[in-house]
Amino acid sequence: MKLIFHGAAGEVTGSLHELEADGTHYLLDCGMAQGRRKEAEQKNRCLPVNPSAVSAVLLSHAHIDHSGNLPTLVKNGFRGPIYATPATMDLCDAMLRDTAHIQEKDAEFVNKRAARRQANHGHTGLLPPVAPLYTMEDAERTLPLFQPVGYYTPKVLSKHLSYECYDAGHILGSSSVILNYHDGDTRVRLAYSGDLGRPNALVTRPPDSLPPADYLILESTYGGRFHKSSEHVINKLRDVVNRTCARGGRIIVPAFAVDRTQQLVLLLHQLANAGQIPSIPIFVDSPLAVNVTEIFRKHIECFNAQTRQYLLDGEDPFGFSRLQYVREASESKKLNDLHGPFMVISASGMCEQGRILHHLRNNLSDPRNTVLITGFQARDTLGRKLIEKMREVRVFGEPVTVRAEISSLDELSAHADQGELIAWLKPLAPHLAGIFLVHGEAEQAQALAEVIRSQYGVEVAVPQPGQTFDLPPRNVNHSVTVYNGEIPTSRSTDS
Ligand SMILES: [Zn+2]
Repeated sequence: MKLIFHGAAGEVTGSLHELEADGTHYLLDCGMAQGRRKEAEQKNRCLPVNPSAVSAVLLSHAHIDHSGNLPTLVKNGFRGPIYATPATMDLCDAMLRDTAHIQEKDAEFVNKRAARRQANHGHTGLLPPVAPLYTMEDAERTLPLFQPVGYYTPKVLSKHLSYECYDAGHILGSSSVILNYHDGDTRVRLAYSGDLGRPNALVTRPPDSLPPADYLILESTYGGRFHKSSEHVINKLRDVVNRTCARGGRIIVPAFAVDRTQQLVLLLHQLANAGQIPSIPIFVDSPLAVNVTEIFRKHIECFNAQTRQYLLDGEDPFGFSRLQYVREASESKKLNDLHGPFMVISASGMCEQGRILHHLRNNLSDPRNTVLITGFQARDTLGRKLIEKMREVRVFGEPVTVRAEISSLDELSAHADQGELIAWLKPLAPHLAGIFLVHGEAEQAQALAEVIRSQYGVEVAVPQPGQTFDLPPRNVNHSVTVYNGEIPTSRSTDS
């Protein structure tokens, strides 16, 4: 087997890893790159793989930096199956349509503005219009290619290759996978962590321990950092909300409707019930107005015991009754005339596209407002510039002065920190011949690599884009499987 790293190699977005087995090509994820606009645009449009030569995609989870470029793959000739858990399929149905809609609307906005400018300046020859990365039609041609694969259910990919997915505890439906190559006496087992969640998340189950493998592709988003305690997060959130409400400001939260948003809403619900913050309206500004509750109720298999019990009891653990969906662009614009305090949650999470850009353009210059960042912001994204406290940023190419408060609740991020990654790795480490660190900026990946080498003595590589690795067979007979949660605690993995 051979591994070729393309995206999320030395960076966090655009996950795209290629696996070659017996001359057949598979992709692990096909995410959208974000960051420096032109560079990201180039990466997203010019795929480093030949789409028609890819036999299948194994999708770890629905986040756009893992799934968001699937329609480009299909637009350029991919016709194979996209394997994902049923919850990931339902989320992708909403998210890929949403992203296509955003691509179309952003291109339309930029083209209209360019045409207006050129008319105002008396130019006659129009610049060629900007085309969306992909359209709704491309997204809708992608969705029928999805095929469901349940957790802990082996899926045969070819005569010699099969795979199995486990709960990554990151977001609804997220998975880690184990690929099993078996040809006579030749065996290779490759694990891919996907994005790993946190052991004590409010909503999701803890990440499963994986069965033994020879090689591992491991995410390293927070490889050099430790999250603060949940008490610290709750206090910080309480203070931010109270400060902004006292100023009569708005709280702008960049995130998709299905994301860490549920944790945030749950915490706000608890704080309001305890009388520690005022109960403010929360608007989810999404053109699709995804019915989050329905998707969640459909997939109670993805939740921890406490949340599952709430849902089975018909309770509303996320306080969704407080959420108001904003479907039409005209209603979204009306939010601008509304007096605060209130909260708006809108995509995209890293402030790179979509309605959040309009909210930021309208609200960043007002010192009463707060922009509340709740997820990881990749280098060179607008979200990263905001948390780095840049006083002037560009939105839709126009300069905007930042006077609003910028607050970051990193701990609401759905990624394990260094200590949690190292703990997750412990049962796997004795079996591994090598680890490839992806999905992390250089300093985070290097910090994690050092700890892994010193603690477990396993060889670690931090691949660069385009780098290829052979995975020689080790022919080790693995026979122990350890799961977290309510799954049986042992079974053979060598059948
Ligand atoms: Zn993710």
